[in-house]
Amino acid sequence: MFLGISACSAQTKNQFYADVVAKTSEANILKDLTTFENFGIKNVGSEALTQCETWITSRYKRLGYTDIVLQPFSYKAGTSHNIIVTKTGTKYPNTFIVIDAHYDTINGPGTNDNGTGTILIMELARLLKDIDTEYSIKFIHFSGEEDGLIGSNYYVKNTVIKDQLDIKLVFNIDEVGGVKGKTNDTVVCERDESQPTSNNEASAKATTQLANYMRLYSNLKTEIANAYASDYMPFEDQGFVITGLFEKHESPMNHTKDDDLAHMDVAYVYEITKGALGAALEFAVAIKK
Ligand SMILES: [Zn+2]
Repeated sequence: MFLGISACSAQTKNQFYADVVAKTSEANILKDLTTFENFGIKNVGSEALTQCETWITSRYKRLGYTDIVLQPFSYKAGTSHNIIVTKTGTKYPNTFIVIDAHYDTINGPGTNDNGTGTILIMELARLLKDIDTEYSIKFIHFSGEEDGLIGSNYYVKNTVIKDQLDIKLVFNIDEVGGVKGKTNDTVVCERDESQPTSNNEASAKATTQLANYMRLYSNLKTEIANAYASDYMPFEDQGFVITGLFEKHESPMNHTKDDDLAHMDVAYVYEITKGALGAALEFAVAIKK
């Protein structure tokens, strides 16, 4: 390594992390997005959503995760579950990095919104399984998002607050599929610009770090914008530090029957997954055994 070059950068690439990121599989991403799409419309109360829930849960079991909790909640649309998978940290077992995405959809298969976030997290979980991290990680697949952040609100109220969870950062992924035919070379990193303001500075710092990690571990450019209308907001409302990823070109197909693979850019999801994995390794402080 030629140190003169890395000294120019605010943050430098960790070679161990880069080696893990290199194992990200575009073939896995395409296969999982296809499976997600084939379940159909996954609104709360549908059989399709239950099938998708079983698919996600089985994946974690097969990967070897043992701390898998299905958290039920009910409202007028029906009963659904948040899927919460915990990987215990070596140094700070009781401090959590939450990496989350919703898996329910509305009006269509939701391959972009939010199959992309769903399968991104499963790919991270695959590659992080046998890597030690100083902080604990919670991979959370929320449901009821499209009906008004129902699952994440339920989790924050009934688990986070009730159990007084110590959360270092909430990292939310929602709609990172891009638009077919456009140049999808930039990811939006989202920071907290809403009330309460006590946590905004910490979110801005984490989001600047996230943008740096996205550039270090993927070939994407980054932009910073405000966080809104996704599962990080119930955490934000309670003063937690949040950040998130969103596509630069917002798909016009989201929440329609045409939110599918044909209208998005799988290579873009692959790059975002690489960057997000680099960020997860950095935020959770992964260590070489
Ligand atoms: Zn969404």
